Amino acid sequence: MKWSKLMIQTLREDPGDAEIDSHKLMVRAGLMKKAAGGLYTYLPLGMRVLNKVQRIVREEMDRAGAQEIVMPILQPAELWKTSGRWESMGPGMFRLKDRGAHDYALSPTAEEMVTDLVKGVVSSYRQLPVTVYQIQWKFRDEIRPRFGLMRSKEFLMKDAYSFDVSLDAADASYMAMFEAYKRVFERCGLKAYPVEADTGDIGGKFSHEFHVLADSGEDGIAFCGGCGYAANLEKAERKVGNGEQGTGNGEAMETIPTPGAKTIDEVSKFMGVPGSAFVKSLVYLADGKPVMVCVPGDRDVNEVKLRHFLDAKKVELADFETVLRATGANAGSVGPVKPADASLRIVCDQELRGAKGCIVGANRDDHHIRNVDLSRDAKIADADYADLVVVRDGDVCAKCGKPLAIRRGIEVGHVFKLGTKYTDAFKAVYKNDSLEERTMVMGCYGIGVSRTVQAVIEQSHDANGIVWPASVSPFQVCICLLDPDNADAAQVAAKLESELEAKGIDVIVDDRQERPGVKFKDADLIGFTVRVVVGAKGLAAGGVEVKRRCDDKSATRVVPPADAAEAVASLLA
Ligand code: ATP
Ligand code: MG
Repeated sequence: MKWSKLMIQTLREDPGDAEIDSHKLMVRAGLMKKAAGGLYTYLPLGMRVLNKVQRIVREEMDRAGAQEIVMPILQPAELWKTSGRWESMGPGMFRLKDRGAHDYALSPTAEEMVTDLVKGVVSSYRQLPVTVYQIQWKFRDEIRPRFGLMRSKEFLMKDAYSFDVSLDAADASYMAMFEAYKRVFERCGLKAYPVEADTGDIGGKFSHEFHVLADSGEDGIAFCGGCGYAANLEKAERKVGNGEQGTGNGEAMETIPTPGAKTIDEVSKFMGVPGSAFVKSLVYLADGKPVMVCVPGDRDVNEVKLRHFLDAKKVELADFETVLRATGANAGSVGPVKPADASLRIVCDQELRGAKGCIVGANRDDHHIRNVDLSRDAKIADADYADLVVVRDGDVCAKCGKPLAIRRGIEVGHVFKLGTKYTDAFKAVYKNDSLEERTMVMGCYGIGVSRTVQAVIEQSHDANGIVWPASVSPFQVCICLLDPDNADAAQVAAKLESELEAKGIDVIVDDRQERPGVKFKDADLIGFTVRVVVGAKGLAAGGVEVKRRCDDKSATRVVPPADAAEAVASLLA
């Protein structure tokens, strides 16, 4: 490929709306162009990378025994109504009508359609297990599309679905995908960690996310250096003893005015005691019903854990009228001791079990109570103590007792054991060997293909630009032809290009009428894995320069033109 023929535009300046390096670099290197908010066009170089990632995904899916299909993006509402997700997906799902006023969704995922499909094809245990996959555009009306391909409204996903005769059998399908995912990310040059995850809206019992660690990651992940436990913060657990909170000796409660101090920070400054001496009390609505949630003053409520514990579809902070009605005070002055509504359910983080000598809101505006002994002074059912907080750096691993460290991660893939949530809804059954009907057991598995492209950049770049791993580099080799008008140089470059192509290596020749500095800057910005410099001066001195993008200048080798192809191939190996 000749650079002079390529549709490409590289930029010296960062795009104004890009917050993270990989987004800036995708645009500056001419891999993609913004079409509208959360929507991007893949330019020729970006498309090459996307295709290479897709090829790796396909090969690993096929190797794991999954079979490729492609399902419609435009999906009738009836399918989504069958599972109940027409309602529960809410505004995150794009919806539209055809001319006959029938409702449709633009597929954000495809459990419904695939279950309906397999139900119609599979009838006997002899046809199971089966795993199908597609690489297809997905649409989600994200609250905050940002970071380029990381969170866009339209993105390319590989989604796979397994169908098995039983939960036990489904484990094998899950593990096959789990192993395939490890290989996919490794082959893309990514270091991706499997972490235990919550199952979110898709439902199901058990899941792992694959995360690429990066400061710009939107997810927090707890890692244990001791036993290797790794979990998304939505799910991560810690070990606690009882009554770690407070140090009281049974003194009587005392109400004190705390004028104007609302947050734990403000009250703790006002009273001159650390935040950990407080009980943070928040009123939530769980499927519309008020409940007070108490956690140690220096901790945050984990709403995912709370939702699971309350077995609710939705939890959200209560509006101020509800807070006032339930407690008798406004947020900031509420607490577990005698709320206005005596029947208000109070749930507590397990660390507060047996806590004494704490400070709580008095359920009276601008007042707090100290010397509170929760078991003495508040009405909390024993079963309402549970793990309800977000773990933090230094917490104790629930599995092995060593400290947890918190890192940021980008979710590039997700594997779920779904169970029978969708096969029940669609009555997707098979006949066993006694001809009895049984429900199929499902798994589902996603890879953010377009997000993966950008995650590679986020993990592999420097101050000058992208540093592509060979497997997904838009071209593995860039030949910078410094003197395109010099017949010798042009001929050496052309010969090397065809020798490399004969070895199955893809090459771009920068044959533009540009200064060497411009060519080097662009080659570094785009980040082709290997750079070869061919110029009249160098040839006169005996050779061409060969260097990997990831090496510094000192690693540059000068080789005779005849040995260049071999030298490049060994650098790529
Ligand atoms: P997230 O938590 O990041 O919103 P998710 O858990 O909702 O993602 P899944 O339903 O598990 O996403 O989708 C499978 C994969 O698709 C994710 O692991 C991620 O890599 C990718 N993905 C999800 N949403 C987007 C998006 N808006 N833009 C790009 N990729 C996405
Ligand atoms: Mg996910």
